[in-house]
Order: sequence, then C-alpha cells, then structure tokens
Amino acid sequence: MDYLPIFMKLEDRPCVVVGGGRVAIRKVTLLKRVGARIKLVSPLLCEDLQVLADRGDIEHVARDFQDADIDDCALVIAATDDVEVNRAISGLAVASHIPVNVVNDPESGSFIMPSIIDRSPVQIAVSTGGSSPVLARLLRSRLESFVPAAYGRLAALVNDYRQRVKQRFENPEQRRYFWENMLQGRVAELLFAGHEDKARSALEEAIDDADVHFNAPGEVYLVGAGPGDPDLITFRALRLMQQADVVVYDRLVSEPVLDMVRRDAELIYAGKARDKHTLSQESINQTLVRLAKEGKRVLRLKGGDPFIFGRGGEEIETLAEEGIPFQVVPGITAAAGCASYAGIPLTHRDYAQSCVFATGHLKDGTVDLDWERLAKPAQTIVFYMGLHSIPVISRELIAHGLARTTPVALVQQGTTRDQRVYIETLESMQDLAEREQLKPPTIIIVGEVVSLHDKLSWFGTKSS
Ligand code: SAH
Repeated sequence: MDYLPIFMKLEDRPCVVVGGGRVAIRKVTLLKRVGARIKLVSPLLCEDLQVLADRGDIEHVARDFQDADIDDCALVIAATDDVEVNRAISGLAVASHIPVNVVNDPESGSFIMPSIIDRSPVQIAVSTGGSSPVLARLLRSRLESFVPAAYGRLAALVNDYRQRVKQRFENPEQRRYFWENMLQGRVAELLFAGHEDKARSALEEAIDDADVHFNAPGEVYLVGAGPGDPDLITFRALRLMQQADVVVYDRLVSEPVLDMVRRDAELIYAGKARDKHTLSQESINQTLVRLAKEGKRVLRLKGGDPFIFGRGGEEIETLAEEGIPFQVVPGITAAAGCASYAGIPLTHRDYAQSCVFATGHLKDGTVDLDWERLAKPAQTIVFYMGLHSIPVISRELIAHGLARTTPVALVQQGTTRDQRVYIETLESMQDLAEREQLKPPTIIIVGEVVSLHDKLSWFGTKSS
C-alpha cells in the first residue's frame, strides 16, 4: 500500500491553491464543499474562478507564487501549468510538513485526490495510486450505481441516534451487533422504501426494547431473479441477495445468479420441475413463515418476475396473514428478457399494438384459454410453460382465425449463453418437438413481430 486513505476535516482551515485555470476549478470546488478557506494565488483567473473571487468565495492573490504564501496553511494544491513551478511549490510544502497535491503529477506531491462517491455523510473514495485516473473513474461509476442514493439518509439517521445507542448499549460488541441488524434489516429497508418516519419509529422501538428486537421476527424478500443472465437482476435484488440469511430458490434461478448470493447464506431448493414439485406450494408458504418466525431474513428467489406466473401473490398472502413483514422486488420477466435477447420487439407500430402473456400449462390435458381473444390481428401472444402444449396452441390459434403462416419464435434458455431461437410458423411448429430436442425453459412468441428477428437479432450464443 503506497498511500494511506484518510478523510480530512478542512472546515474554516486556510488552504492554498496555486494556479488560476480549469484544473484549479475542480479542486477549488471540492475545497469549497468541505468549507475550507481558500487563498488562490495566480496572476490571471479563468472566468469561473473570477466569479468566485468577485463573490468573495475565495481570496484572490493576483501575482506569481511566493514562498511565504503557504505559511501556516493546512493544505496546498499546486495547479499551475508549469511543471517546474509545481514541483518547487511541492518541495517547499513537504519541507514545511504541509500536505500537498500536484495536479496531474501525483508523484510530485505528498497526497493524491481520489475519485469520490458522495452520499454525504457517507463518502467512498477510490484511488488507483495515481496509476490510472480513468480506471478510478470507471470504478467510481460502478460504485455509484451500486450504493443506493438513500445511503446518505441512512447515515444521517444513524448519526441522529448514535449517542442514544451508545448510552443504551455500553458493550461495544453489543452495539456493533445492534447496528448491523438495523442497517441490514427492517430499518434500512423502510428507509429505502421511502418510509422515513416508520424507519425512525422502528429504530426507536428497537433501542427501547432491545430484547424484543433481538428476538424480533425476520422478514421475507420476494425477489425476481430475471430470466437467467445475471446482469439482468436489479440493484435492489443484489443488495438483498447479499444480506439474506436463507435463500429459498426455484429451479428457474440460474447458477450464475445463485453465485451472487451471500456466501454463508443457507440455500433451500424449492424445486418445481413440471410434474415433480419438490416442495408443494403449501409447504413453501409454510417454510417461509417458519424461517421468518425464527428471526431470519429470508430471500424467496424466483425466476423472472415473481408476480408473473410465479405464484408470488399466493406466497405473500400467507405472509400477510401471519403478520410477517415482506417486500417484493420485480424482475425482468421471461417474455421481456427472451424477446430482447432474440431481437423481437413485443410491440411495434407496424405489426402489433398489444401483447398478451398467457400460460400454456395444461390442466386436465387441455389448455384452458380464451382462444377467441388471443387470436386477434396486430397482437403478440407470449406463452409461458407452453412446451407441452405446442400442438394445442398451433391447432387452436389456426382454428380461431390466425393465418397458418403466422410467424412463431420458440426461445429456449433465453438470455443465457445456451439460448436457442427456433423460428417457425403456426403450422410448422406442430411437429417441431419431434424434429428438435426442445428443453425447458422455453417461451413461445406468436405474431408478426417475430419476422423482425432476422434483422434485429444481436445476442451471441454458443450455437450462433
Ligand atoms: N415468473 C417467471 C415465469 C415462471 S413460469 C417469469 O416472470 O419469467 C415458467 C416459464 O417461464 C417457463 O416454462 C418458460 O416458458 C418461461 N421462462 C422462464 N425463464 C425462461 C428462459 N430463460 N427462457 C425461456 N423461457 C423462460
């Protein structure tokens, strides 16, 4: 480690910036944000700095740098366009034990400026030790998107209660445990969901009645994991995946997605291959209730979106009846994911003005659907769970008026590297299963939009 990262308090402290150009502006702006008193030494000022000087936000010393300029200051930034001058300033500052940064020449100074993610009071600083500012900026933008904007509010809330919690729990271990629970559990989630008042009351309750808190019921996160590609899960899903104690997952949840779950979380497979339900729906519901009552944070992870052919509604109904807190995180449903990755827009001004999601799941050997309403012109139909109903779908849609030549796409294992797209017609799809070894999960898209696949397909797979 070549540099020690520290966060420096500069409110009302005298700081010196040497240089009046563009690079100086960025540093001046940052120093202003932390409330430093800025003396800027430069014979000339660029326009923006002149505005600050005119407003009295900075003290402008309109001449070349002199050694005495840095006397008694807390920090120096050398930002002139003359490498030698910058180095001379730096040498002087170092000799006087004043921290100094040389802009665009990290080696010459005694400290470097990181890339900053500002969720004040939370701050994350990223540095590559000066070796690649571009990489630092890229990392910063990744972190930006990963740290919810509400973290700032969360830290502010903690700050308001810090003293009270300190008095309440004298033992630092207990205090740490308490905060860990608050910040990864109900209080944080309430705040992120926009219920600041409720978050405060929950925190106050927990402080007043810590024993109850330590035995409090857990909660359930019903989370959509998307159709397979791990890049398609949401930030919220990822955050909850990394804080859950137990994960109850379905067959449709892909391996790479499961890999992102917290390492030490307990994994429970809830199955659901067609016709071989590993756990019955009722026992899944009961398992969720039991785990939550044990005080666990339970992640119920489902393929696609939990509210689209996912029985998510039934699962949380049971939780609601038992008074167990829960939240639902949407996922990209298979229709949306597979259509995008197959280059098939589900609606299109020229081809389809509506889109219907239907289940092709057979009940007592027949598909119980309103075929009349499905077989409409200018409408896309997406069948979930339709692999075993291909002959019925083909027959009924033709019988209810759709052309035999209507294009159909069957997307198998969509959005994954194993994705296969079969382009057929309503008529030719009848015996597709005989020609090809079709495997679940497969989604069936029916409608004129499918003809766009040839032109719009973009996703590279193992077989393409
Ligand atoms: N809740 C899920 C759907 C569950 S029903 C969602 O919103 O996507 C299961 C059906 O979804 C499968 O039979 C299949 O038709 C479809 N499906 C799910 N993932 C898929 C994938 N990666 N590729 C193709 N079809 C998929």
